[in-house]
Amino acid sequence: MKLQESHAKTLLSRAGLPVPPYAVASTPQDARAQAAAYLDGGASAVVVKAQVLVGGRGKAGGVKLARSADEAEAVAAAILGMDIKGITVRRVLTTPGADIVRELYLAAVLDRSRQRILLMGSAEGGVEIETLAEVDPGAIVRVHAHPQLGLQPFQARQMAFRLGLADHLAQAVAICSGLVRVMLDEDADLVEVNPLAIVREDGPAGPVETLQLLDAKMTLDDSALGRHPGHEEMRDLDEEDPADIEARAAGLSFIRLDGDIGCMVNGAGLAMTTMDLVKRAGGEPANFLDIGGGARSDKVAQAMRLILSDASVKAILVNIFGGIARGDEVARGLVEARSRQARSVPMVVRIVGTNADIAAEILKDAGDDIVSAESLDEAVSKAVELAGRAA
Ligand code: GDP
Ligand code: MN
Repeated sequence: MKLQESHAKTLLSRAGLPVPPYAVASTPQDARAQAAAYLDGGASAVVVKAQVLVGGRGKAGGVKLARSADEAEAVAAAILGMDIKGITVRRVLTTPGADIVRELYLAAVLDRSRQRILLMGSAEGGVEIETLAEVDPGAIVRVHAHPQLGLQPFQARQMAFRLGLADHLAQAVAICSGLVRVMLDEDADLVEVNPLAIVREDGPAGPVETLQLLDAKMTLDDSALGRHPGHEEMRDLDEEDPADIEARAAGLSFIRLDGDIGCMVNGAGLAMTTMDLVKRAGGEPANFLDIGGGARSDKVAQAMRLILSDASVKAILVNIFGGIARGDEVARGLVEARSRQARSVPMVVRIVGTNADIAAEILKDAGDDIVSAESLDEAVSKAVELAGRAA
């Protein structure tokens, strides 16, 4: 689950990291009131930022500076409703404008191949890291946190020095360690700060420079959401695929893919195997779908609707190993779904195990476009053939 900047900043500031004040507005009037409060508090400008789950908002015109409450209202009005990479902006974040001395990049990511958290930094912030990795890979500093000990203080110092932050050592060390700690505490896959900025502020004894997290991006591990009761309410349903929302509500594991063979399987392992076999037979799966153990007919019907909501599906492969799930229950769900579906898509069904014989009886009279198969290999090759014929 990707978090909006405002939510990522909530988690980062809760962890004690230096995040400038911010507020979220969904109307220009609210943005104006927030801006007025910052300006009254001594800020010389206000930044208004689109809250959408895509990068490069700045370049797309979704980040703007305003010098008065009037201007903040106008800028917010322009950004709200804007289309950024196909997403309509519904909310903006407002924050006092920082006087930036230097922008850097810092992120904690999961390095799956090394099975460790990787802290990546670059003295060149503001630039997208993917671009930097291509044009100047040497400019990226990498430090792997220890799996048990975490990011050790010497590693944080090493990162700080290599980013040229010797003058901000204590703060830089706290931020490096903080990102890794937030990653672990919140079960995140990614915590990215771009830019991390050296910001100039007026102190009682003249200008002072501090490090601030001006932007934040976070991705949470969906499988760990159950451990964090507060995280679910940070989900932005406006930006999720409706199919994902429906699948989650129904308790189905569903992931859309690029192919044209819809797959309905029980058990994640069997679903993976089925997809592998489809690939081997020269087909392309349109989705991963695990209907789970003991699925009732209504759940099967719902899964079928999800598969058919993808217009590129040309054939459906149903592969059920009846254990706790009963074959007849699944067959009834398939027939029910079929009776209500608008689009006619051929379906190959292989049901073995509990009540497979009753399932076969039910499916026999269910229609010409339901093909039964005895073995998995047979089912797969028939599905691939039907998808090819439809093309
Ligand atoms: P992104 O384009 O989606 O990554 O959005 P960012 O929040 O990173 O904003 C893009 C750029 O706007 C940053 O690289 C900064 O140069 C600038 N920016 C963002 N926040 C501030 C701020 O508080 N003050 C100033 N002066 N510039 C900012
Ligand atoms: Mn950014």
